[in-house]
Amino acid sequence: MNELSSAGPRTEPADVRLRSLRAEAETARAVARAKLSEIRSERAAAVTDDEHDPEGSTLTYEWSLAQAELVAAESSLDQLDAALARVAAGTYGVCVECGRRITQDRLDARPAADTCIDCARKHARRTR
Ligand SMILES: [Zn+2]
Repeated sequence: MNELSSAGPRTEPADVRLRSLRAEAETARAVARAKLSEIRSERAAAVTDDEHDPEGSTLTYEWSLAQAELVAAESSLDQLDAALARVAAGTYGVCVECGRRITQDRLDARPAADTCIDCARKHARRTR
């Protein structure tokens, strides 16, 4: 973490960070897809005696977990792609709602954030 400290303050370009997060999300998506296809073939092999099959419910549980992982990975990929598009357009770090700058703290915590903390809070309130 310190090798760049001589180059000044820690200002890793946003797109470098976004790209590495994107690579992680891609890996997570591949892992989830592999799990799903593994479960699918286990299920196919275990299709014998449906409801009485204790294996069946375990597979259903694992299936929904893997499905949730896949959805989460795909949604981060979408958000990261959108953030990378904003970097390219020169609008990264600007709130899409109010046009103010998103604080660095928030971007550090959520690099794909497209709204400032105030607008995000408004949303949270609205959806509750
Ligand atoms: Zn805002």
